[in-house]
Amino acid sequence: MTVAIKVRSAIERSSWIRRMFEEGAALIAEYGAENVFDFTLGNPSMEPPKAFHRELLRIAEHPYTGMHRYMNNAGYEETRAAIAGRIAAHSGLPVKSSHVVMTCGAGGALNVSLKTMLNPGEEVIILTPFFVEYKFYVDNHGGVTTEVWTDPETFQPDIDAIAATINDNTRALIINSPNNPTGAVYSAETLAALGHMLERKQAELGRSIYVISDEPYARLAFDGNSVPPVFKYIRNAILVTSHSKDLALPGERIGYLAANPAMDDAKLFMEGAIFCNRVLGFVNAPALMQRLVAVLQGESVDVGEYQTKRDILYKHLTRLGFSMVKPGGGFYLFPKSPLADDVEFVRQAQKHNILLVPGAGFGAPGYFRIAYCVETGIIERSLPAWEKLAKDVGL
Ligand code: PLP
Repeated sequence: MTVAIKVRSAIERSSWIRRMFEEGAALIAEYGAENVFDFTLGNPSMEPPKAFHRELLRIAEHPYTGMHRYMNNAGYEETRAAIAGRIAAHSGLPVKSSHVVMTCGAGGALNVSLKTMLNPGEEVIILTPFFVEYKFYVDNHGGVTTEVWTDPETFQPDIDAIAATINDNTRALIINSPNNPTGAVYSAETLAALGHMLERKQAELGRSIYVISDEPYARLAFDGNSVPPVFKYIRNAILVTSHSKDLALPGERIGYLAANPAMDDAKLFMEGAIFCNRVLGFVNAPALMQRLVAVLQGESVDVGEYQTKRDILYKHLTRLGFSMVKPGGGFYLFPKSPLADDVEFVRQAQKHNILLVPGAGFGAPGYFRIAYCVETGIIERSLPAWEKLAKDVGL
């Protein structure tokens, strides 16, 4: 066998994703795409803003020598400066281009950050429910994940529980707001409390503990709110993000990491991150996309559309008796499963052509995830199916 035991085991553990995909494809073949309500993937149905296509055309019509060549591993200076300027304006901190590395998506930024900071066996705290890839990413770089539940009433981080878990082997904490899968947006008060607790713990233990703030949904906050700037509240913070969701470009693999200028060993960390970006094989983020996002920092998809989708589903499902925390952003709902066995509930939903992901996939059995980044028409057509499903499971 030429596949490593560890990889085989990982494939086995995540085989339900493939199974669901195959079953979904079979349903579409039988009933037609318009009659299958696929809420499984966080793949936005929205198109990028018009300004993206305008810039794309402009660059294509005015090619210049060297535009497709290798560059500095950290990325183009103008792109890093545009991003740094935006973060500086938002956080009030002196973020410069030297604090930014362009990466292949937020996934790339997470891997580069983890590789840069982890010694073998060091612990990374992740907050349950979590984005399942975190476990694989931490393992990629020899780290060990420790799961700490968020407050199930709000899905906000439980600061005392995190404090109780931190030990002299803890290197990092990953936070994610707006959250996948819960849609929770962490408040400024929560971030401030987290920042204070971490300063106390770091002084106590005499070691740096980094917060990796994974924010690909940061511009998708609802109800007129915005996501508080992590650098303002947490000193040892690294922001990792992408334009996969806010510009609807997940296939283009364009993201970045940024270090808080006030963080411990910021200069050394940036040197490490630029090196890791290279040796992980990404080398640099896609050149054309870097050119584009440099001038699109003020653009975003219409967040109002996601809010409308949330409102339709949240209103309908709560009326039917489903119980859930109202999301403040992103494009996911994470209701409690009406059946104790969330996998069984997802199977019941499939009988009504509704495709969902069981909470077990996010470390949270007893829940299920709805990714509502689909056409609003699909959501509307799914409403009667939800009604039948609710009856079936005794709501
Ligand atoms: N982090 C979270 C919480 C996500 O939901 C995703 C993608 O769905 C990623 C990171 C990866 O984003 P990217 O496609 O930019 O690598």
